[in-house]
Formats: sequence, C-alpha cells, structure tokens
Amino acid sequence: MNNQKTIVILGAGESGASAARLAQREGYAVFVSDAGPGSPRYLTELEEAGIEFETMQHTADRIYAADEVVKSPGIPDSVPMIVELRKRGTPVISEIEFAFRFTPKGAEIIGITGSNGKTTTTMLTHHLLDFAGVNALAGGNLGDSFARLLLDNEPADVYVLELSSFQLDGMVDFRPSIAAVLNVTPDHLDRYEYNLDLYADSKVSIARSQRLNDRLLVLADQEVIAPALRRQKIDTQITTISSDDVRDGGIFVDGYEFSLGAGQLRGRHNALNALFAVRIALQLGVNEKEIQLALDSFIPAPHRMELIPTADERTWINDSKATNVDATYFALESMTGSTVWIAGGTDKGNDYDVLMPFVRENVHTLICMGVDNTKLVEVFTGQVDTLLQCSSAAAAVVFAHHRAKKGDTILMSPCCASFDLFKNYIDRGDQFRTAVKNLNA
Ligand code: ADP
Repeated sequence: MNNQKTIVILGAGESGASAARLAQREGYAVFVSDAGPGSPRYLTELEEAGIEFETMQHTADRIYAADEVVKSPGIPDSVPMIVELRKRGTPVISEIEFAFRFTPKGAEIIGITGSNGKTTTTMLTHHLLDFAGVNALAGGNLGDSFARLLLDNEPADVYVLELSSFQLDGMVDFRPSIAAVLNVTPDHLDRYEYNLDLYADSKVSIARSQRLNDRLLVLADQEVIAPALRRQKIDTQITTISSDDVRDGGIFVDGYEFSLGAGQLRGRHNALNALFAVRIALQLGVNEKEIQLALDSFIPAPHRMELIPTADERTWINDSKATNVDATYFALESMTGSTVWIAGGTDKGNDYDVLMPFVRENVHTLICMGVDNTKLVEVFTGQVDTLLQCSSAAAAVVFAHHRAKKGDTILMSPCCASFDLFKNYIDRGDQFRTAVKNLNA
C-alpha cells in the first residue's frame, strides 16, 4: 500500500516554491498550482527540483484530491476553491505552519507581527542576536520564507520570523516561544470584513498555540488587543510594552537605559520597535552592553525613514514604505521643524484627521504625488501655505527643492499605496532617491 501523502501548493511564489521543495524533501507527493503566470525564478526552481506544476489554471480534480493544501498568503479565504476545500474537510494551511513541523530540534522561534514595524523589528531583533554571536536566521514575510531558511541553511538556534496577518490566518499548531504583536491599526481591512476586531483576532492568533512558559509581547494602550486576547483564549505569559518607556532619545527596559542617539533608528515608532527587539534579545540571554553596541550599528532597511545624504543643506527622507496613515503619523510626528511633505497615491479609505496637528505645526508645503489627488487636496487646502500636484517622483523632487529652504526637511511619506504611478513602494522610493541624487549631482 502506498502511504505517501499528497500535498498541493497553491501559488508558485517565494513561499509556495520553497514549501514545495521542503515537502518533496520530507517525502510528500507534491503538485503546485498557480492561477497566474508565476515568476520565472520560482518556476525554474520547481523544474530543477523535478516538482510538477501548472500555471494559468487550477486543475480542480488534482487539487481536491490533496490530503493537505498549502495556500499562498496572497490568496483570500473567500475564493471558491478554498471554500470548497474547507467544505470537503481538506486542511488548508500556510507555508509557515507547514515549515514549522520541520523546525530543528531545540530551536527557538520568534514570531513578529503587527500592522507596522514588522520588518524593522525582525531585522533589528536578528541583528541584536547575531551581533552577540547567537546562531540566528531571519525570514518569513521578509527575505527568505521559513521553508527556505530550513532548506538552504545549517540548522539555526533561533529563527526570527516576520509574519503577516495573512500568514497567521493559516496557522494551526505554529508555536513561537516568543511572539510579538507590535501594534494593530487599520490596514488590509478589505480582507477582514472591514472589522478591526477580526483583524486584531488574526494578529493575536500568533499566540494561539503558545503555552504557559512561552511569552507574548504586546503594546500597552492598544484598546483592540485585550478583547482580542480574551476572544482568542490566549494563555501564555504576556508582557506589555509601554510607550512611557521611550524617553529622551532612549528606551528603558527594567531600569536599564539604552540610547538610540548613536544609531540610525529615527522616530518614536522605531524606539517602540527597539523596545520589543531589546526585550526579546534580553529574554534570549544577550547582555545589555552587547545590545547597546548592536543598536548603535544597526542599519534599517531602505524606504523606512531613510535619510538620503545630500550636500544641499536640506534633509531628504524617503519613507516610501509608509503606505498607511499610522506609518505617516509617526513620520510627521518626528519632524522637528519646517517641512515639505510629499504624499499621495492610491487612497485606502484614509482618515487624515489624526495628521492635522503635525501638518499645521511643521508642514508649509504639501506636494500631492498621484493620479487622483482629489481627497488630499480637499482635506489639506487651507491647512498648508502651498499645495502642489504632480504625477512623478522626479517632478515632486523638483517642486520640493524649489519650495524647501536651507535647513528644511523634505519628507516623502505617502500614506497611500503606490500602484497608481509605480510598480510598488520600492520602485517609488528608488525613483525618489534617484531624483534627489540627480538634483544634487
Ligand atoms: P512592516 O514590515 O510592518 O510593513 P516596516 O518596518 O517595513 O513595517 O515599516 C513600514 C512603515 O511603517 C515605514 O514607513 C516605517 O517608518 C513605519 N513604521 C515602522 N515601525 C512602526 C511602528 N511601530 N508604528 C508605526 N509605524 C511604523
């Protein structure tokens, strides 16, 4: 009798292709199905591994015959095929859940989620550990998928995983020994019936399988989190992180002060991210002195409050990753003087009112960079001295340069998705940086 289990992977992207290879290594019969064209890099990978796949279609018979299905986080639960699989009782899980089964013995898993700050906190946590000589790898929703980390590396002692809520929705037994929910603010609500509570449930479900000796870090003063913890019956040690512990350019953890002055983590939001990362590192036994040295040497990922060095005596900041109001809130909050603000793109139903105090205080010029700027124009007319509109990063930079005086900051923190004018936020940030450099060449 053939006891080989059949696994179907839906979506041939980073997580799908690596889950397929991991499944093959673990002895499953594997079939990958992608409704789109797939990307050459991953299709080549599957081909080289001898894994069967299809693109531009889903062959229903083969998919319904699976013992288990691994779904890409990009596919919503509401698509008919997923609904049908669930009706038939076929387990539909995420790549992280699948890879979790093959975690090396004794390795610790750190899971980091939240609406904003995941990438920064995951990279910082990894840096704090790595700097102290801990054998740690980072991945998940950033860089390599968890499956790929397991496939392509020697076993590590710690896996630091960035997790999106879409990934968490496919979790069953996934159990991080330390989990962090950085914050829960409105984003992606289209996937959660426009209900912030459902989105919060998804975020805290990171701790669903944790036990009493595990630990969950959450941000205090986030009203939606406590009820979500109760609804999800989270039963673990909970540490609350308080924004009161961010003071005078530093952060305080258990009476010890860490300075952020020498490093590149700008803004109060990054101090909060650092509070989480430092707590995790302390928990894993890294000492305070090494943490301080690592904080001083951390280089954040581009497009997140990234300083573009110029010689024009103006401060240019690329915050292209700010695709929602909360991210831009912290960017504007960290402005300390006269500012030109570049915003715009695809509006996700934004409520800009919370930004108003910062705009009134520091922003003299708003440059709206988008195909349709109607909403920004309506909201901010009369709130700033000058409001300009443009439809390219190059034009925005020329306008900004013209309007900014010596000593001003030019902040590109769009608050919106980038798809109207750019491929993605990276393209938007790259075009902005190139235009700033050309101007100064
Ligand atoms: P994510 O991976 O969750 O998208 P990033 O670290 O890539 O988070 O940051 C995304 C955007 O949010 C950037 O503009 C960044 O400056 C901003 N940001 C980072 N951390 C926080 C935070 N804790 N709260 C609010 N905004 C944040």
